[in-house]
Amino acid sequence: MSNKCLMMDADITIIGAGVVGLAIAEKLSEEHKNVFLVEKHLTFGQETSSRSSEVIHAGIYYNKGSLKSKLCVEGKWLLYDYCKKYDIPYNKCGKLIVATSQEEVAIIEGIMQTAIRNGVDDMLIFGREQIAELEPNIFALKALFSPSTGIVDSHSLMKQYETNSINNGCQVVYGSEVSGISKMQNGYKIDILDSDKRNYSFTSGIVINSSGLTSDKTSEMVGIADDTLRILFCKGEYFRLNPPKNKLIKRLVYPVPHQNMEGIGIHVTIDMGGGVKLGPDVKYLDSNVYDYKVTESKQEAFYRSAKKFLPFLEFDDLAPEMAGIRPKIQKQGEPLRDFYIMEETGRGYPGFINLIGMESPGLTSSIAIAKYINGMINR
Ligand SMILES: Cc1cc2nc3c(=O)[nH]c(=O)nc-3n(C[C@H](O)[C@H](O)[C@H](O)COP(=O)(O)OP(=O)(O)OC[C@H]3O[C@@H](n4cnc5c(N)ncnc54)[C@H](O)[C@@H]3O)c2cc1C
Repeated sequence: MSNKCLMMDADITIIGAGVVGLAIAEKLSEEHKNVFLVEKHLTFGQETSSRSSEVIHAGIYYNKGSLKSKLCVEGKWLLYDYCKKYDIPYNKCGKLIVATSQEEVAIIEGIMQTAIRNGVDDMLIFGREQIAELEPNIFALKALFSPSTGIVDSHSLMKQYETNSINNGCQVVYGSEVSGISKMQNGYKIDILDSDKRNYSFTSGIVINSSGLTSDKTSEMVGIADDTLRILFCKGEYFRLNPPKNKLIKRLVYPVPHQNMEGIGIHVTIDMGGGVKLGPDVKYLDSNVYDYKVTESKQEAFYRSAKKFLPFLEFDDLAPEMAGIRPKIQKQGEPLRDFYIMEETGRGYPGFINLIGMESPGLTSSIAIAKYINGMINR
């Protein structure tokens, strides 16, 4: 990338302190000077990154050769190593994808082949006895077991990314919303609206748009308007499994995924605190509003869906928990879309790097994404 950073206030500016932006800030500030991370909220991870299932995905489902597949498979190992190095709470607990009918048995055998093509070669197909040894309280005719799937405390992870970024010399600036970006000869002018409603501007040689749910709008600020990159808010709601029944599950348990991967089915997620959640479901919102309300009337649908593989479940075991919003560029009913990660010289914006549609497995892939971006910059 030939972008001279002479006379710029910042060499590199990252917009958005979610898990992806923070990982990028840590990586880039190891090798580069004068790195800024700007975030509109008063602290990190206030949007999608604190509303996920916190699963370290194995990289089973994605299309071969896609960024999602490559960055997830690479990212999960980098993430496990990072958690060990910095004592971040995690649990490589494994995941069962359960078939509750003969039709689904054929589907999980197909998933196994996709996983192998993606380089995930540690999956096992279990019959009823082996399933019962791992999870005696679930029902499944057969199951695919993924031993490299796990969970992580995403707040501790983001805190570590932030700490390391600051220690590397990165300027982390909260309460600062990017309100405009304009191209200059050697970089970009970035307009900021701060939390006291004051406006100011600074210049940066390289700009990395990691602004999650509004990353399409941030891209439009510089002049890149592309209907195929328009973000659609896609809500996922969760219900909690009340104690003491949360003790009946020790691993992640998933049904077979939806056909076009709009979501991966209402599944059982455990967290580092011993909590168990069901969800998320998938609902494209009519407009891009930050709607985190859990719809209590969905309890019946969650109950029926999970009852197929959790025979012990009663309606009253569930309670509304939380919701998150996926930044989808995949329109409803369309095939799965890949992450859009692009240095935009081709559109006339050298040194402007877009990350759009950073839905799952963005958390799992965060360190691999950061490496990928660092490689782009060093080229
Ligand atoms: C329901 C759900 C479950 C998920 N489960 C998993 C999972 O189990 N495993 C997994 O790997 N992934 C999962 N994901 C995906 C994962 O959460 C995301 O990929 C990841 O959090 C995206 O991080 P991010 O940094 O790109 O975005 P965000 O967390 O959205 O961060 C973007 C940041 O940019 C800031 N920002 C936006 N506009 C501006 C602006 N103009 N100026 C300044 N700052 C701005 C925002 O305030 C925000 O803090 C899940 C997602 C959802 C919704």
